[in-house]
Order: sequence, then C-alpha cells, then structure tokens
Amino acid sequence: MMTSSSNCRFCGEPLRHTFANLGVQPLCETYLEPDQLREMERFYPLHVFVCERCLLVQLEGSIAPEKIYKQYAYFSSHSKGWLKHIEEYADMITSKLGLDSESQVLEIGSNDGYLLQYFTRRNIPVLGIEPAANVAEEAIKKGIPTIVKFFGKEIANELWSQGILADLIVGNNIIAQIPDINEFVAGLKSLLKPSGATTIEFHHVMKLIDNNQFDTISHERFSYFSFTVIEQLFNHHGLTIFDVEEHPTHGGSLRIYARHTENTSIPITSAPENMRKAEKEDGLTSIEKYLCFSENVKATKRNLLSFLLKAKRREKSVAGYGAHAEAHTLLNYCGIGTDFLDYTVDRNPVKQGKFLAGIRIPILNPSQIFDTKPDYVLILPWNIKKEIMTQMTQIGNWGGQFIVPIPRLSLYDANGIEIYNETKPEEGSA
Ligand SMILES: [Zn+2]
Repeated sequence: MMTSSSNCRFCGEPLRHTFANLGVQPLCETYLEPDQLREMERFYPLHVFVCERCLLVQLEGSIAPEKIYKQYAYFSSHSKGWLKHIEEYADMITSKLGLDSESQVLEIGSNDGYLLQYFTRRNIPVLGIEPAANVAEEAIKKGIPTIVKFFGKEIANELWSQGILADLIVGNNIIAQIPDINEFVAGLKSLLKPSGATTIEFHHVMKLIDNNQFDTISHERFSYFSFTVIEQLFNHHGLTIFDVEEHPTHGGSLRIYARHTENTSIPITSAPENMRKAEKEDGLTSIEKYLCFSENVKATKRNLLSFLLKAKRREKSVAGYGAHAEAHTLLNYCGIGTDFLDYTVDRNPVKQGKFLAGIRIPILNPSQIFDTKPDYVLILPWNIKKEIMTQMTQIGNWGGQFIVPIPRLSLYDANGIEIYNETKPEEGSA
C-alpha cells in the first residue's frame, strides 16, 4: 500500500523536481518461483525527487515498511568484508567513548546481532531493535537482547520511561530506510545520555551521483543524504555532528558522529567543515547538480540498450552476472528481459532456479557460463567487478568479453583489461 506524500520528509516543502525516475518496478529482492511465472505481479513507482528548499533526495511516498521487513533476506553476519569493518568500528568506539560494563549500547536495525556481539564479548550491556523477525531471532539465539519492532516515537518513549538511556546509539545503513526521519532523529535525541554519542552510517549521495550509482535506488531506501543535509536534520533536533569519516563500504559511505548540542565537552574536529567544503565544491549545495543526474541516468539506459541491440543484431549472446538488488533495479529500469539477456547467474544457491521479478530473467549457477559460452558477460555488481573477472577469466577461451554498465558502459577483455568505454555519451558501438 502506498501512503501518499508529496512533501519533503524533512522540511515539508512540496516535491517538484525529479532526481531520477526509474519507472514502475516490483519490490527489489523479490524472486519468483517457476510456478509464479503465470501470475501477475505488483509494481510500484520508483521515482526519486530532490527538495528545492533543503536538497534532500527522497522517494515520493513510502511502501508500508511492514511489507518489506517482516522477513528480511539479508543477514549482516554473512558478509565477511562488512564484519571486518564492524569489528574495527567496535574496537575504535569502545576506546574512544571509554565504554565498559556500566555503559549502555543501543543499535537500531541490529539485524542478526552482527555488531552487538562485539560489545557483549566485552561485557558491555547492549540492546538491539530490529523489525525483521527472522533475523532478530538469530540475534536472540546468540544471547543479544533484541526488541522486534520498528524504531519510532513509540519505542523511544517506552525505553525512555523505563529509564533506558544510551552512551552509544548506532545506526548502520538504516536512516535511509526510515519513512519519518524527523521522528527518527528526535528518538536518537531523547534516548541519548547527556554525555552520549551516536554514530550513523549511510550511502553518501555524492558517491551515488558522481559514480552514477542509480541502481542503488530502491523502494526500501526513502532518503539519500549528503553531509550538508543530514547535518541540517541533526541540528534541527538539537544534535551536533562533531566528526565525519568516509568509508568505501556500499559504494562509498559516510559515518557521522553526533552528540547533544548542549554537550560542548566533546570538541568538534575539522572533518565536518572539510566535508561541507568538499560538498560545496562538488556542487551538492545547489539544485542544478541534482537535476543533471536525471539526464545521466537516462543516457546510461540508452547507451546500454544501444550496445545490446547492436550485439543482438550481430547474433551475439549475452549472459548476466549477479541477481542482487542493484541488478534487479538496473534491468527493470532498462527493460532488459530474456530478449537481450539469456539468463543471469548468482553464487547464492537460494536464488538459483528462481527468476528476477519484473523482467523475469532466470537465475542460474555461475557454471552455466562455462557451459553456454556467451560472447558477453554483463557484470551487474560493479563494486566487485575485478573479483568476478578473475573468477570468470576462462571466458577468454572462446573470445568472451565483459560488459560493465556503471559508472559508464565499458568493455573488458577476459583478462580484465578495459578495451572500450563510453566517454562520449550515446556514441557507443558493439
Ligand atoms: Zn526539504
């Protein structure tokens, strides 16, 4: 069910300017069983706007989050690179804030306890809040106290009335998924001890724009933040950002550190000022930057389709690699079905034998590529393209090549050497 909202989630200004319109799409991370192919599917608009007043990039309206989060398929503990990032964080923040057995750590979107386990090992009291029942159960099994609910005013009030206040509140890759961001940040403010700190990580909209990562847009991510915008939001609720770091996770993320504005005992580093300057130089403080992005997105679609059309006219075969959320978004936006892509592959056995929703492309085992010897392999997870090329270098045995569509259409030989890229938009040739 769509709840209608055509006003900015932060400042209430009516939304008038398109940032990216990716058409109508099924919810991402939806995989169809073969017997569902005869049935209809639900499609929802995936139209992202930018607010002309505060420059928050956001989806118009929200799909009721219960629809997305009851059974969440993503278990944070299954990603090794992410766990390393998190373990380093737990070490750093424990010593930075001097956390001990008297402290309280609270995590919003605590998933399967991937992070809180590092604190419980040190006897630091923790509490997780996680709406997806199946992943929360995993955390509870590990002995991590978890409330299975959406974080909002209600929970914040409940904890506050029980006298539960936190020395540290963590929110990793969660703020984008919160429909009411004002309520969320007000909740942070109310649950933080006077001396406490909160750290929030999110995909940096500067990376999204500059690296053309429009395929990371999805129905479950309602807001796309710059530092400048999130700082306004936090300031509005009486929180001051005293530090910010860039991390390479999820295509380029920011981690912000905030405290009560009244608590001047924690000094502000030079990083926030440097980040404000960097964003201004990048153009993020004026609306033109956001309006141009929409054109880049459309050009990417035309370039990819034009390459595939030419390849198909020359009777070349193309297979995909990847069946994750970004693959789903890109292929659905471009309307690429089995007319262009014979199939896609994914190493996750749970997805094999199913179909990507919407465009209904079969998902097979990666070994299928060696059996069918396609002329081109379209690599959809651009963030791990090198790893996939190394894994698939045998496609050189039959003259196969790799296509990478983002940030711009590029062609690589079987050894991973770039042999062509689309530097001039719309002059591509296969
Ligand atoms: Zn606004």
